[in-house]
Amino acid sequence: MRLPKFSMGIGDRFAHQGVAQLDAVIEAGRQGAVVAPVWNKSHREHSIVGSSPVDVRHEADDAVQSRGWRGPYFVDADHIGLGTVDAFIESSDFFTLDVADSIGNKAQPAAIEAFVQANRKLLGSLSVPGIDEPLEISQDLLQATAEKFLLAVAEAGRIYRHIAAAKGEGNFVTEVSMDETEQPQTPVEMLLILAAVAAEGIPAQTIAPRFTGRFNKGVEYVGDVQRFTQEFEADLAVIDFAVQRFGLPENLKLSVHSGSDKFSIYGPIGRAIKRFDAGVHLKTAGTTWLEELIGLAAAGGDGLAIAKSVYRSAHGRFDELCGPYASVIDINREQLPLPHEVDRWDQTAFTSALRHDRSCPAYNQNLRQLLHVGYKVAAELGAQYTDALDKHSLIVAENVGQNILERHIRPLFID
Ligand SMILES: [Zn+2]
Repeated sequence: MRLPKFSMGIGDRFAHQGVAQLDAVIEAGRQGAVVAPVWNKSHREHSIVGSSPVDVRHEADDAVQSRGWRGPYFVDADHIGLGTVDAFIESSDFFTLDVADSIGNKAQPAAIEAFVQANRKLLGSLSVPGIDEPLEISQDLLQATAEKFLLAVAEAGRIYRHIAAAKGEGNFVTEVSMDETEQPQTPVEMLLILAAVAAEGIPAQTIAPRFTGRFNKGVEYVGDVQRFTQEFEADLAVIDFAVQRFGLPENLKLSVHSGSDKFSIYGPIGRAIKRFDAGVHLKTAGTTWLEELIGLAAAGGDGLAIAKSVYRSAHGRFDELCGPYASVIDINREQLPLPHEVDRWDQTAFTSALRHDRSCPAYNQNLRQLLHVGYKVAAELGAQYTDALDKHSLIVAENVGQNILERHIRPLFID
């Protein structure tokens, strides 16, 4: 099973927007951007929403059937580990092996020694086509990198083999993810990680590193765009090199776990993948839920009332909701409007505070991040929430589709 050159993770917390998301992908295709949709959902999201992996499979299959989509599509068991993968095996055909928690734990000395020996030929000045300066790899760096990452890659190997034993090799797409960690990985580390991935026999088609800068949920990239661009291009060069050198799948590409809406780096990513003739997988995940709220608010009446009540609850349960996401949000509580103020807002006031349009003076990224992690509140509303989605499905779908097409696919794959 082969992941195409361009693909996009389109998470959908409440499994109601599959058709709207697919419509955006179809429209992108008409405009020249062929992108494979990947419906991804993590164990964390499932447990907060109270859904199960088979629901995502049904959503994807139903959307594909209702639109007669003939292109490839996938269902991604996002951020799974050995402890969580089993529930996903049947319904998923894309697995994001999350081994970030094992980074920094040392493998057995013999395993480290064997890795260092096997990669001695990389020592010294290593010219990698596409990177101006040769990579300098000393014995110490090789040793330290093995100590830092080898155990994590071995863990990825265990998860991969566990899935392969159940599904059969070649019947699913494998991603290795190391993004949910504090320290970005350098291009040299990426090279050595890929050497280890190949040695473990993991046919990774995507790899998700932790990039430089902050990738807060649902809001803009915070960091040095130029530095990001350099790092991203070096990673592309390293991947090309590693594919040749270590015999990894030739469609191996970077997966950008964007946390959604990193508009300032879409341009640089788009230009870099063109220059390197590389593919990319972009995970955007959670903003579909925010577009649902925008759609409900824009509908006014009971839709707007639900959006306000979600905000009121989320505001009152700040610590509980933000806790699991503490490392990927940055909310200034002083700048959150009080619920009784929000209660006085009309449709436009609510949608313009929430919609990610930084040119709009009313846009409030603190409110946006709080609502981003506040989907638990909507999940608890159960049918009250999903019935409202059904009732206002047209205006919700319009916001969901526009967001994917205009804010994500267009800047990255069309412009
Ligand atoms: Zn991630």
